[in-house]
Amino acid sequence: MKIYKSISEFNSLKDKLSELSFVPTMGNLHAGHLSLIDLAKQYDNEIISSIYVNRLQFNEKGDYEKYPKSLEEDIELLEMNGCDHLLLPDESILDNIDLIKASPKSNKLCGKNRPGHFDGVLTILNKFFKLIKPKLVIFGKKDYQQYLLVKEFIVENNFNIEIIGGNTIREESGLALSSRNNLLSKKNKYLASHIYKALNEINLSKENLNEELITNKKNYLTKLGFDVDYFTACDPSTLEDSFEIYKSDILIAVAAKLGDVRLIDNILLSKL
Ligand code: AMP
Repeated sequence: MKIYKSISEFNSLKDKLSELSFVPTMGNLHAGHLSLIDLAKQYDNEIISSIYVNRLQFNEKGDYEKYPKSLEEDIELLEMNGCDHLLLPDESILDNIDLIKASPKSNKLCGKNRPGHFDGVLTILNKFFKLIKPKLVIFGKKDYQQYLLVKEFIVENNFNIEIIGGNTIREESGLALSSRNNLLSKKNKYLASHIYKALNEINLSKENLNEELITNKKNYLTKLGFDVDYFTACDPSTLEDSFEIYKSDILIAVAAKLGDVRLIDNILLSKL
């Protein structure tokens, strides 16, 4: 795997590269990230990943500063899993950066209490897309709203990029893998698995999908000690609240804090 330790190093070599599939990450890699590299292997392009903790997308300085880092292990994992290139941008990535304003959809779900979060995400991705010029980009659907906003951003800005969404990889307990899980105590990690449990229970009673069902599950998490940011049933394209499972698929999405660790998860209920 070829490692580029700065933007200028990548820039000086990029013309020699073949067509690329791009898997952006913030590092502290786990099987969820590696599943995206595996997805990339199904295409002919060479694979490039990046590790960059993007401070533009953090609302709290403390959250940014304590974001887990494990660069040596990450490099080893990418190498072992067949990634061809790794870009480790230096802070010059922020030089003369065009600040992107995300569409109004960015103010729903994760954007409601994290103003500017998706502006920060798209600002860095826009820079990456222009720099790397990938043919294909791969994002996890665990961050469903991010996946949706990036997909729409690509179309709106006429990038010649295909986007693929990878399914969420989970621990045996059902807890969605996340770099932030490393910040959970053993007890809270156990409690965290109840998020997926609640989502699954909604799936099992989806013929009765209504506001009360969602509120009950939200209260259940609150009783367990979660500080629930949102627990929502919505249309997966517009992200508007919806319980119309007989008309279309419905996204059930959750964000909740355990202590000061913020966790998100979602499932897509298929139309009845
Ligand atoms: P992050 O390093 O958290 O920015 O994530 C990098 C990419 O990995 C994003 O596209 C995430 O959606 C994806 N990802 C994170 N966790 C998972 C998971 N458990 N399963 C699948 N993809 C994931």
